[in-house]
Amino acid sequence: MNSLLESSIADCHPASVPDFTPVAQLRELQLKRLQAVVTRAWQQVELFRSRMDERGLAPQAVRSLEDIGKLPFTKKSDLRDTYPFGLFASPMKDVVRLHVSSGTTGKPIVVAYTKEDVDVWTSVMVRGLAGCGLHRGDIIQVSYGYGLFTGGLGAHYGAEGLGATVVPASTGNADRQIMLMKDFGVTAICCTPTYFLHLIDRAAGLGVEMKDLPIRTGIFGAEPWTEPMRKHIETMGRIEAFDIYGLSEIIGPGVGCECRRHQGLHIFEDHFYPEIVDPATGEPLADGSEGELVLTTLSKQAMPMVRYRTRDITSILPGRCECGRTLRRIGRIGRRSDDMLIIRGVNVFPSQVETALLEIEGTLPHYQIVLTREQGLDQMEVLVEVTPRMFTDKIGSLQGLHDRLQGALDHVLGIRVRVSLVEAYTIERSQGKAKRVIDRRTT
Ligand SMILES: [Zn+2]
Repeated sequence: MNSLLESSIADCHPASVPDFTPVAQLRELQLKRLQAVVTRAWQQVELFRSRMDERGLAPQAVRSLEDIGKLPFTKKSDLRDTYPFGLFASPMKDVVRLHVSSGTTGKPIVVAYTKEDVDVWTSVMVRGLAGCGLHRGDIIQVSYGYGLFTGGLGAHYGAEGLGATVVPASTGNADRQIMLMKDFGVTAICCTPTYFLHLIDRAAGLGVEMKDLPIRTGIFGAEPWTEPMRKHIETMGRIEAFDIYGLSEIIGPGVGCECRRHQGLHIFEDHFYPEIVDPATGEPLADGSEGELVLTTLSKQAMPMVRYRTRDITSILPGRCECGRTLRRIGRIGRRSDDMLIIRGVNVFPSQVETALLEIEGTLPHYQIVLTREQGLDQMEVLVEVTPRMFTDKIGSLQGLHDRLQGALDHVLGIRVRVSLVEAYTIERSQGKAKRVIDRRTT
């Protein structure tokens, strides 16, 4: 074992040891678990069995990890169509927890956990938080929503499992959040990146400088965010910001997390098997190619997911991380195929807008995209908050800022959009995931 590896392990919580499993041993474990999960789903879940039958496949067809490519995909619509309990592989007496992920349309989706599943969830969150340098002695404020959403309880169990002190603040009441951070000496926070931005703003309004507080780490997830946003948050809050990834369908937060090298997110591969496929054809793509992330749960009991199409666009990063973890990494997810807007035939992602805005001084990282249709033609307007100082300056500088933004957006998006500068706090603040797009187009 090299000294880098030894020191990396020494830095971690004992629960992090699986992060460093030799690759051959990890692949062997993955195959064994894949065979078990496919067998379980085939025996217990009617939809999965019928799709395997259609392909003339039995669980014995999985002889190597590559054979995963033969298995049918699972889509979000499958969870909706079998609402509420159609994909459960455990009897309700073995299910200790239900969570619900809200859909934008129609019925929500329901996910289930056995006691063993909750323990796995806790363990991957512990490994994620430990990888961000947190440990016993840290005071972690969990400002994700508690309740049916997986964010709050997932982070809570992980932080408690780590041995840290947990402040279960949930979302809302920013003034009280800031009071708790200050009075309790909170050292780390888990929330959405936009909520943390909101807290920075509120703190300033209360005469508290986030940079003067003991907080040094932020674990941010549940919405796509960009590298320029990380820089902004790290500078404004004087913290180290980490990206965490997860989704309820797979387990909740804790599917993957950045380590302190910040070069992609390690997937906890002993429990979740990642693939990248072409979003249009479903064909597997090689490491390094960008495509849709597909995940298979390797240990889930109550609700195994085989080849779940996440709709998140990323790539598996080639090579080994300098931290010594053998777990493969994915690039940070800047966009979801669901988020794609088609404006006058051109594909636009909100993250492109965010990147362009954050590179121009004088703007705040609060923006909203409003889509309308005028005389049959799509129109896109970007509302951007600007710093109070810009509004008190001469009108000329506002115009200059407007033109710079216009130029940057035209360049990045490849279409002409309308830019409207608005005063700080004009755009409604979200408690959780930010509402970036308002679509007023009628179809
Ligand atoms: Zn690493």
